[in-house]
Amino acid sequence: MTQTPEHILKVCYGYDSFRPMQREIIQSMLDCQDSLVLMPTGGGKSICFQIPALMLPGTAVVVSPLISLMKDQVEALRSNGISAEALNSNNDDCVNAAIKRRCETGEIKLLYTSPERLLADLEWLYDNVEVSFFAIDEAHCISQWGHDFRPEYTRLSVLRRRFPECPVMALTATADKLTKTDIVDRLELRGGNMFISSFDRPNLSLDVRRGYTASDKMRLIRSIISRHPGDSGIIYCMSRKTTESVAYKLQSAGVTAGVYHAGLSADQRNRVQEDFINDRIDVVVATIAFGMGIDKSNVRYVIHYNLPRSIESFYQEIGRGGRDSLPAETVLFYNLQDLITLRSFADDSGQQEINLEKLRRMQEYAEAQVCRRRILLNYFGETSDRDCCNCDVCRTPPVRFDGTVLVQKALSAIRRTDEKIGFRLTVEILRGACTTEIIERGYDRIKTYGAGRDVSYRDWNDYLLQMLQMGFIEIAYDEDRHLKVTSLGEEVLFGRRRVELAVISHDYTRDRSQLRQGKKSTANRSAGTVSAGILFADLNADTEDHILFERLRTLRREIADESRVPAFVVMSDKTLHALAASKPRSVEAFGDSYGIGEHKRDAYGPRFVSLINDYLDETGNKS
Ligand code: ADP
Ligand code: ZN
Repeated sequence: MTQTPEHILKVCYGYDSFRPMQREIIQSMLDCQDSLVLMPTGGGKSICFQIPALMLPGTAVVVSPLISLMKDQVEALRSNGISAEALNSNNDDCVNAAIKRRCETGEIKLLYTSPERLLADLEWLYDNVEVSFFAIDEAHCISQWGHDFRPEYTRLSVLRRRFPECPVMALTATADKLTKTDIVDRLELRGGNMFISSFDRPNLSLDVRRGYTASDKMRLIRSIISRHPGDSGIIYCMSRKTTESVAYKLQSAGVTAGVYHAGLSADQRNRVQEDFINDRIDVVVATIAFGMGIDKSNVRYVIHYNLPRSIESFYQEIGRGGRDSLPAETVLFYNLQDLITLRSFADDSGQQEINLEKLRRMQEYAEAQVCRRRILLNYFGETSDRDCCNCDVCRTPPVRFDGTVLVQKALSAIRRTDEKIGFRLTVEILRGACTTEIIERGYDRIKTYGAGRDVSYRDWNDYLLQMLQMGFIEIAYDEDRHLKVTSLGEEVLFGRRRVELAVISHDYTRDRSQLRQGKKSTANRSAGTVSAGILFADLNADTEDHILFERLRTLRREIADESRVPAFVVMSDKTLHALAASKPRSVEAFGDSYGIGEHKRDAYGPRFVSLINDYLDETGNKS
């Protein structure tokens, strides 16, 4: 073997060093061993099988569940000058036959295929192709415990019998303990080689906003969008109706936004997905159905308009942000109404207990007063011994005050109405609201009516949430969601226990003023993500030229349109930033840039270099 993995990394991909574990994983394949690879989305799994595929004789067969994923990967490989193809049912028979012939001659180094297709083609492979190894992507699909179980994946165990000599690499981004052993068992992986990389995604900032009204949410969303002009983002909502109303509001504000949910036709959904991938729309407002099979690397923010139903889905969804490892923002809106709705979904679901437990963990995350990243990592079985400094709790640790009297007022209101009221009425009574319902039910005559007039509606909702979290009240789901005082609550009510409440930070006022400023500024950026400063510094933010960046981006767009591939396949945002900072004036210097291998150097170098030279001449060569 003349070429080392390091050499291929530089020449084909334009990267200088491996990320943690990539090198070991590649080595284990070169040593002909089976392995299970667990890495978060965006962690860099593909390179782990692509590089051995280039080094070993024959063709590597990559099994992938989705045609769109295969297409993206094949395009990305080709843009780096690597011969790869996908056998799939979308191709017509002639195309598939031609691909097969090229596999037989060993011309194709990576062959992507679906599990069904692979099983159908097994004998052809066996008889005609020198298979270097099998890589099973999204391997969690093989397990019933995994969250996207695909029955046809289970039949992949046949590979071991038909190709006993061929090593197998199984890769996934989500697998708990049970799923992990299931993958190993079903694929009959030998040697117990497991590579589990950290699930931490330090470039994703984490932010939870509690108790926002619909208009507060829109205000913050618009401020986030205006902080990222021309960038891509995803907004997840619980219902189809919400996706439509949010998208409508954004469109009315001049944002290019599309809607994606299961109620649309397959055609409509594909169009939105394609528009998003190709940067024709900036924002997709979607239900959870969106994102599987999206390999877009430049998503700069992911917003959860409503509370997700589990930490797994939440993490997978925010994981679609910042896959190029540049900073990306995530915001989760959390309020009681969502929690109540999700509780009833979980109650009515087939797997009530599991789903309620998952929701409880999600709720704990949203309500947490400790570093949120620690909670996430802990959830995925990784312990972290330090705070992340890139979540809202780390940035503004909660301040507490003696809230005993406030809590007593609320508990008393609940008791004096015989525990027959929910959150809304409790707050209305405390605030002394004059509604027909209150008058008719005589609640204006109880002692606590109006006793909490000095606290706003929003703050009362938050304090009630804290009371729920601390176990002073509970929600009777079987009694119209009325609130009940618990025995712990009685201790407070009767003065036997003091309570510390967290001071509510009125950060929506900050969002409002940010929106008024309305434009991107470095100050805003670093207010949004603390580590952004560090990460951008890494890219020479000081020397980066924003006007040049935009021009480079336009050129990337043109090239992408000409070659009919998504813009991020041409080059990543990170590469564009690097070019805008280093401003290479020769093709050779261009070739030394981050993410530029030989193929991209020759294919795009001349056009980018001439743009940069023109720009520098025009601006008086100030670099
Ligand atoms: P995954 O399949 O794990 O979700 P990818 O393989 O798509 O992730 O990799 C995510 C991004 O990281 C891609 O843009 C890829 O080119 C980049 N990447 C992978 N390995 C490296 C590396 N060693 N150095 C720099 N970038 C890398
Ligand atoms: Zn933190």
